[in-house]
Amino acid sequence: MKAQYAPLVPELQEAFARTLETGRFIFGPEVEAFEREAADKLGTQDAVSCANGTDALVLVLDALEVGPGDEVVCPAFTFYATAEAIARRGATPVFADIDPGTLNLDPAEVERKITPRTKALMPVHLFGRPAADLSSFGLPVIEDAAQAFGAGGIATSVVSTFSFFPTKNLFALGDGGLVSVNDPELARRLRMLRFHGSAAKKEFLYVGYNSRLDAMQAAFLRIFLRHIDDWNAQRREAAARYGELLDGLVETPQDDPGHVYHMYCVRSPERDRLAAALQDADIGSAVYYQPPLHLQPALRYLGYSEGDLPETEHAARENLCLPLWAGIDEEQQARVASVLEAALQVVRS
Ligand SMILES: *Cc1c(COP(=O)(O)O)cnc(C)c1O
Repeated sequence: MKAQYAPLVPELQEAFARTLETGRFIFGPEVEAFEREAADKLGTQDAVSCANGTDALVLVLDALEVGPGDEVVCPAFTFYATAEAIARRGATPVFADIDPGTLNLDPAEVERKITPRTKALMPVHLFGRPAADLSSFGLPVIEDAAQAFGAGGIATSVVSTFSFFPTKNLFALGDGGLVSVNDPELARRLRMLRFHGSAAKKEFLYVGYNSRLDAMQAAFLRIFLRHIDDWNAQRREAAARYGELLDGLVETPQDDPGHVYHMYCVRSPERDRLAAALQDADIGSAVYYQPPLHLQPALRYLGYSEGDLPETEHAARENLCLPLWAGIDEEQQARVASVLEAALQVVRS
């Protein structure tokens, strides 16, 4: 992330100075401009900013009146916040298994989990890969696109949420979140909910939240937004290079034209050995979502046990995310590949 913003430091300092000069740190022109520019970039009618990607999910669920007694189908192979937001509203997360080829929700598994109580579906565009379109089920679809700003194929007829946590493809210099919407009534409700359920400061219509994007972060995000297409293209190039370098060593992700590679995630039965070899070589890597959400202590009350979501559990055991950022060079990637190759040769001999 630091490598990505380093060339932009003078521009960021200028944005800081400009915002300081206005004296508007909550809402105001920077936030309004960022919301408009983000909606344009995403191709949606509107975008409503908030404090973080978790709040974006909670705000949408609240605006759609999802609450106690309702079920929302989501994956268990995702960051905890996806299911936490559903539980936070008093609704029940219902976990559907993933397609091992995409690591995203398998539509056939989603169908199996739909009941008369299902109020919404919440696919996640995991690691930047667009999830399968679930609109044919006739239920509201809330897309957790926290890892997928600028990814192609995201259905723009639905509601999508984004996070600007510093590790995401589009990031702030702190926390931030966004909801993209095509429904003016929903946008109006979201704007009220993020400000204590109020449109004007004196009348409070709903029990809401205090969840805003700081003007300073909006000013920084406007700069980063101008680079997101280029950064995503660089990530895709780096992913293609890994695909060649790692061919035959590990299972590499099948490409999808809309994939923006928030993470470059490979699979291997030798995952732990590979992770250890990278660590010994001082190369950062990460294992995600182990244990997956259905086996997390806070969600034990949902009653899942090991074996309930076989593909999710298998992916949790095998995944390894390799270093990838906009600007990683071929030499750095070749070094990663050679460390993996050497570690696998030890296993095989
Ligand atoms: C990061 C992330 C979130 C939460 O975003 P925050 O801004 O950290 O609250 C939610 N869902 C997914 C899939 C994420 O990766």
